[in-house]
Amino acid sequence: VNDSMGHAAGDLLLCDVAKRLINCVRLTDAVARAASNESSAAISRFGGDEFTVLLTEISDARDASRVAQRILDAFREPFQVNGQELVVTLSMGIAVYPSDGQDAEDLLKNADTAMFCAKQRGRANFQFYARSMNVEASRRLHLETRLRRALERDEFTLHYQPVRDAVGGQLTGSEALVRWDDPEMGMISPAEFIPIAEETGIILDLGEWVLLAACRQVQRWRNQGYRVVRLAVNLSPLQLRRPGLAQVVERTLAATEMSADQLELELTESAIMQDDVVTETTIGELNEMGVGLTLDDFGTGYSSLSYLRRFPLQRVKIDRSFVQHITTHPGDAALTAGIIGLAHTLCLKVVAEGVESQAQAEFLRGQCCDELQGFLFSRPIPGDEFSRFLDIAKPNGEN
Ligand code: C2E
Ligand code: CA
Ligand code: CA
Repeated sequence: VNDSMGHAAGDLLLCDVAKRLINCVRLTDAVARAASNESSAAISRFGGDEFTVLLTEISDARDASRVAQRILDAFREPFQVNGQELVVTLSMGIAVYPSDGQDAEDLLKNADTAMFCAKQRGRANFQFYARSMNVEASRRLHLETRLRRALERDEFTLHYQPVRDAVGGQLTGSEALVRWDDPEMGMISPAEFIPIAEETGIILDLGEWVLLAACRQVQRWRNQGYRVVRLAVNLSPLQLRRPGLAQVVERTLAATEMSADQLELELTESAIMQDDVVTETTIGELNEMGVGLTLDDFGTGYSSLSYLRRFPLQRVKIDRSFVQHITTHPGDAALTAGIIGLAHTLCLKVVAEGVESQAQAEFLRGQCCDELQGFLFSRPIPGDEFSRFLDIAKPNGEN
């Protein structure tokens, strides 16, 4: 809300949320039973978009779940902020004294752990604290804390994976994939830390770093005399929702002397399906600049055909989960063939990712898939190693 409607609107929404919370606990049976006028529930804003509700007059844990349910019900109704309807979901964690903590600090910590769990279970629900949550949540929390420092400490690196022409086999591009080597915890998979980076907003800074570092690598290859191929960089939906991404891309390209058509940005379906004005503007601007746009992980999400048409995309990447089974599951083979045919009808190029065997490559070639990427050719590798795939540029200076 801060990003799209401004901080003043965000403040208004926070006030309305607080009011609604107050109404919910006022109505509780437990509270009604509580001593006369003395308030038996305290609500406070804990920071950012977090609130705490302290219920001092409950007889057992069930009372707490009744209040939580009431709060959830109350939030089904949209909020009105500056004449706009906003639907806000919330996640709650509950810790009960004395079993879940002997003092405020422990209770808050465990309620927070339970809230984390509620968020992960799809939001708009509540969870009671359980000791087992701690193991998982504390790793996550630990990761989050370390992730915040990782950028300053220079702990990220990029690996590059080749993309090859399906028929001729020549190198046509590379995809930059971020790696995090934490000095204490070792290599952490992006599958684990990217979601945390997204949830915490760290992805905004990290994403900018990835873009610049990848473009710098291309510049280094060029300076070393290599012929430059297309570079693909992954974008998080959050990056697209924040105004100004196209300008960041423009500056980065200028700083690294790259031309826009050498860059390809990979978007996810969830990013373009948000019907977000900023996202749409940014996609338009990037297209105008000549930056290529790829729809990543196609087939796993909504696989919406209308979105393929609506956005100025150049490529579709068929997700690994399809490619994996094309030689064994006829259904996946048929779907893959269908996606390729359809994409071609819409004048889109098709890249298959996660190609691990000759048989898969063969099938994809047979279906006229344009490009292939996967362990069959190479795992993602550091930039200086990647240069062994690159050709020496022609002496007349062309790429
Ligand atoms: P993705 O964009 O779908 O990237 C492809 C993933 O498939 C990479 O995993 C890659 O190593 C893996 N892969 C490629 N070929 C094969 C294969 O033949 N077999 C198998 N089993 N796997 C293959 P990785 O590097 O672990 O990245 C995971 C995901 O993390 C990426 O999926 C992407 O969604 C995200 N990610 C990585 N780097 C970035 C980044 O810089 N920004 C953002 N926003 N997300 C990133
Ligand atoms: Ca990708
Ligand atoms: Ca993908």
